[in-house]
Order: sequence, then C-alpha cells, then structure tokens
Amino acid sequence: GGFSILNPTIFIEGKMSGASSLISPLKRLAGKVAILTGGASGIGATTATLFHKNGAKVIIADIQDTKGEALANKLGENACYIHCDVTKEDDIRNLTDAAIAKHGKLDIMYSNAGILDRPLCCIIDTPKSEIDQILGINLVGAMLGAKHAARVMVPNQKGCILFTASACTAIGGLLAGNSYVVSKYGVLGLTKNLAAELGQHGIRVNCISPYGVATPLIVPNEAEITSMEISLAAMGNLKGEILKPEGVAQAALYLASDEANYVSGLNLVVDGGFSIINPTIM
Ligand code: NAD
Repeated sequence: GGFSILNPTIFIEGKMSGASSLISPLKRLAGKVAILTGGASGIGATTATLFHKNGAKVIIADIQDTKGEALANKLGENACYIHCDVTKEDDIRNLTDAAIAKHGKLDIMYSNAGILDRPLCCIIDTPKSEIDQILGINLVGAMLGAKHAARVMVPNQKGCILFTASACTAIGGLLAGNSYVVSKYGVLGLTKNLAAELGQHGIRVNCISPYGVATPLIVPNEAEITSMEISLAAMGNLKGEILKPEGVAQAALYLASDEANYVSGLNLVVDGGFSIINPTIM
C-alpha cells in the first residue's frame, strides 16, 4: 500500500483498499475509465487495446490525430480519441476534464508519451532546444499528466497513475542519450515522490521500465527488426528477442487493475533481463 515509499518508520494512515476477491480474469478493468497519452502508437496503442478488451473505457490521447482516431474507431464503443500535446498544460487540463464530463470519473492515467534523443548525440553537440524538447515531453509532460490526473482523482479518493520510464533507470544509463536518460530518471523520481504524496488519497503511482520493445520509437522500419534482434542477442537480452509491446501492456494491465491495490512506488522493469545482464551501460 505504498508504506515503504512513505518512510520505514512513520506510518500515515492510508486509504488504499484491499484487492477485490471477485476479479474477472477476462475483464480486469471492468467499468474503469483510462486515459493513455502517446496512445496512438506502440506501447500506448497496444495498452489501450488491452485495457479496452478488459472492460475499460479508454481515452486515447496523442498528437498523431489520424492514427489515434483510427484506433479509437477500430475499438468502437467505449473508446475515443482526444488530441493532446503533453507539453501544453491546457491540452492536459482539457483531456482530464473530458474524462469527467464524459464518464464522471478518471480511474487510470497512463502518462506514456515519449521521444528519444537523436542517435549518438554527445553532450557537447546537444543544443539546449533539444534538451528542452526531450525533457518537456518525457518528464514535464508526464508531470503535467499526473498533476491534472491527481486534480480530478483526489475528490474521489482513489486512482492509479502510471508512467513509462525506461530500463536505463536500472542500469548506468544509455550511452549518448543524456536528455532521454535524465528524463527517465526524473520519471522514476516522480513515481516515488508522488506515490508518497498521493497515497493518503488512495492514489497509487507506479512506473514501467521497458527496454528494446518493437515500436516505431526504436524500429521505425520493420525490416530492421532482425538486425535489432541480433544486436540484442549480442547484449544478452532474454533469448535475444526484441520485446513485443504486448508484454509491456500486460505489465500495465496488472498495475492498473485492482489486483495491484497494494502496489505503489514500484519501478516494474520489463526488459527480458537486459538490465541484469548489462549492469552499467549500452
Ligand atoms: P512510439 O513512438 O510508438 O509511441 C510514442 C507516442 O508518443 C507516439 O504516438 C507519439 O506521437 C506520442 N507523442 C510524442 N510526443 C508527444 C506529445 N508532445 N504529446 C502527446 N503525444 C506525444 O514509442 P513507444 O516505444 O511506444 O514509446 C512509449 C513510451 O515508452 C515512451 O515514453 C518511451 O520513452 C518508452 N520506452 C520505450 C521503449 C522501447 O523500447 N520502445 C523502451 C523504454 C521506454
């Protein structure tokens, strides 16, 4: 219930409820309302689809309007798309307000939108505008998502906030990806701090840290998947496979469900064992 995040010695009476004993294995999010930023592609789109399949009403938020609308249309009833640039606070305020206007509540906020550094961008060659852009989307965007989710969740005294960090938070970092690594360590800090702050309102906060997942972020061209798998194999990822976004979506489903009612402040690493085998740097 977030106790270890608060303090090993001080216990503040929380409002987390116990895991329900009547959880359907097929509809683990029945009746819940979920927002997913970065929901038009990759991990976000796959998770939106899995949440929807499990009975959630999903609000897909992204800046890729055509892809987001197509996914919402494909899912049909209980799915919609809303344009939201996570760097714009007004967009995030409108997004969270839309959940309340449409469904009367927000149960799950998955602040997942993110971008990568340019490949091999050493710090000396990194313009400040690029640092601002990556931190603005990956870290400040996640923080604004949490802020407005908390704003609408606190009155209900329950909720679940999820972030996508990165398995770089479990190793030394990713060579020549300074802004990205800083942004994801920031997301990890935010997860722990918010878990402590919001636990008294029954709001759980967790992050998922993937590595090497086949999405347009790291493999824009599907033909590159084989060479990516070869390089992952060389680095010792589990069975040398590139991970499928479904594996990350399943982790998100667990954390969003009532089965995880006592889990808060967790960094759930979903990386096929990569960070255990490569403890320092890529
Ligand atoms: P993706 O590119 O398929 O999806 C990212 C989505 O974020 C896109 O739809 C994009 O349009 C959206 N986005 C970008 N900027 C935005 C903005 N300003 N406002 C709203 N949406 C915006 O990539 P993905 O792999 O699914 O990435 C999802 C998350 O997972 C990211 O935070 C990423 O850092 C993280 N992650 C991915 C991997 C991986 O191996 N793919 C590993 C570690 C972490």
